[in-house]
Amino acid sequence: MTERVTLAGVGLHTGQTTVVTLERTAPGTGRVFYRDNRPIPAHVHAVQPSALCTTLAQGPDKVHTVEHLLAALLGLGIDDVAIQVTGDEIPLLDGSAQPWVEQLQRWGTGQPTVEGVITEPIQVAEGDRFVAALPSQQLLFTYGIDFPDYPAIGRQWVTWVPDQEPFATAVAPARTFGLADQIAHWQAQGLIRGGSLANALVCDRERGWLNPPLRFPDEPARHKLLDLLGDLALLGTLPRGHYLAYKAGHRLHTQLAARLWTRVGTCSTMGLGAAHQSLNML
Ligand SMILES: [Zn+2]
Repeated sequence: MTERVTLAGVGLHTGQTTVVTLERTAPGTGRVFYRDNRPIPAHVHAVQPSALCTTLAQGPDKVHTVEHLLAALLGLGIDDVAIQVTGDEIPLLDGSAQPWVEQLQRWGTGQPTVEGVITEPIQVAEGDRFVAALPSQQLLFTYGIDFPDYPAIGRQWVTWVPDQEPFATAVAPARTFGLADQIAHWQAQGLIRGGSLANALVCDRERGWLNPPLRFPDEPARHKLLDLLGDLALLGTLPRGHYLAYKAGHRLHTQLAARLWTRVGTCSTMGLGAAHQSLNML
C-alpha cells in the first residue's frame, strides 16, 4: 500500500480548516498540488500575485500559503510528490515547517537536490531589498533582515549550509512572525484571519515579543530563509550556488526563481515532467 502523510489545520489568511494528503510519486513527476484531482504544479509559472504569502493557480483552482510545505519538501530532498488539498490554503500549523518535517523526514535524503550550477550572478532588487543567486562551490543560503523600529528583532543575518546542518534542526523550526501594530491593518484587508499567538510570533515596538520564548535568537531571519527556500522550490531542484537575500519577500523571491528558470546555462533540466505537461494547459 502506498504510504501517505496527512495533516489538517487552519489557513493563515482564509481561517479555513483544510486537510492535506501527500503521496510520493514517480521520479521526474515533480511536486504537484491537486484540488479535486485537478493539478496545480508547484512551479514558477503557476505563481499568482498575492500579499503576505505565495499563491499558485491553474485555471479556476488556487492554493495559498504553499511556502512552508514547499520549503520542507525542498529542504528534505523530496522532489516528486502529489499534494491533495481540500480547500484554498495550506494549513499554517505552528507557523514553521517542523510539523511537516516530522511527518516527511523518512521520505527524503535530508538535503536539497542540486541540479546544474549558477554560472553568473543573477539578482532582482527593489530599492535596498534584493535577492540574488551567486556562483559558489557549495550550496548555501544567507538571509538578512533589519527592523530598526523593533529592537527585539533589529538586524539579523543567518546562513544555512545544508552540508553542515540538517534542514530539520537549522531551519524547519523557525516560525512565522508579525508586527503587533500591523495586525489590524492586514485583518482589515481580509488577511491573516487564521493568525494567532499560537501560530505566529508577534513583536511589539515597546514590549518586544508578546509570546516568547523564541526557538532561536535569530528566529525571524531563519524564518525568512525558510520562506526563501519555499519559493525557490518552485524551480523543482536547485542549481548549486549561494542564494543571498536582504529584506526581501515572496514577490522578490519568486521573481528570482522565474529569472533563474529562464536563464539558459544557469538551470539544468529540473525533473518536472508532469508539471510541464500540466503547464501546457495554462
Ligand atoms: Zn513564512
